[in-house]
Amino acid sequence: MTQNTGRFSRKEVTYIEVPCPRLGTPCWNCTSHSLANKRPTILVDRKRISVAQYMWCQYHGPWPDGMDVFHECHNNLCINPDHIRPGTRSENIKEKIRLGIRKLKLSAEQISEALLSPLSATELAEKFGVSQMTVVRARTKAGQYRGGLREPTYIEVPCPALGTPCWNCTSHAVTRTNPYPNILVGDKRIRVAKYMWSKRYGPWPDKMEMLHACDNKLCINPDHIRPGTQKENVQEAVERGRFKHGGAK
Ligand SMILES: [Zn+2]
Ligand SMILES: [Zn+2]
Repeated sequence: MTQNTGRFSRKEVTYIEVPCPRLGTPCWNCTSHSLANKRPTILVDRKRISVAQYMWCQYHGPWPDGMDVFHECHNNLCINPDHIRPGTRSENIKEKIRLGIRKLKLSAEQISEALLSPLSATELAEKFGVSQMTVVRARTKAGQYRGGLREPTYIEVPCPALGTPCWNCTSHAVTRTNPYPNILVGDKRIRVAKYMWSKRYGPWPDKMEMLHACDNKLCINPDHIRPGTQKENVQEAVERGRFKHGGAK
């Protein structure tokens, strides 16, 4: 096979002029290139950069190392080199916070999502419009808590299966291998749902498994869980189609 150069050939940059409420000159909204992270991007020397940065370089020369793209017009679609300048990362974040584009804190739902999501902190930060540190902090706070017991917190979400709402845990982490939020009680790690149940109904019965009536692994509402035998648990799983048979029909 010959080199697949055609795939990397540069597409011509086109745009439409739109009035810019902030600056005197119009924005050039890119119409030729698809968006990544809400910005049009272009492949230059096999590197994906924003079209804005590319356009700036056409007029002003090489892009300064380690600098972010700063939009004076606050329009991510704009590729007008006069509306763009290199800016530091912290300058960029400060400006976004000032404008309310970037939120400082995560909502309870976002924390819950951050704990569950297989996405990286960087990807989640981009999605939520917060700094990467905010996501890392939320995850660390929930996951690697050492020392005393931290009381679980949760948000109520409607439960389609039961009349009462689910309590989706927002304070304690799940891992890739353990989809249930867990909590360190003494030196033992147990499910938060079990902890909540025990708080209301007393010690968890020996050798009993945890059955979620709502089938929502994040739920820690003690009224949605109950102790059950392993047999019951398997039976329920089969009924809900969660259980994959090992081959035998
Ligand atoms: Zn602009
Ligand atoms: Zn529930």
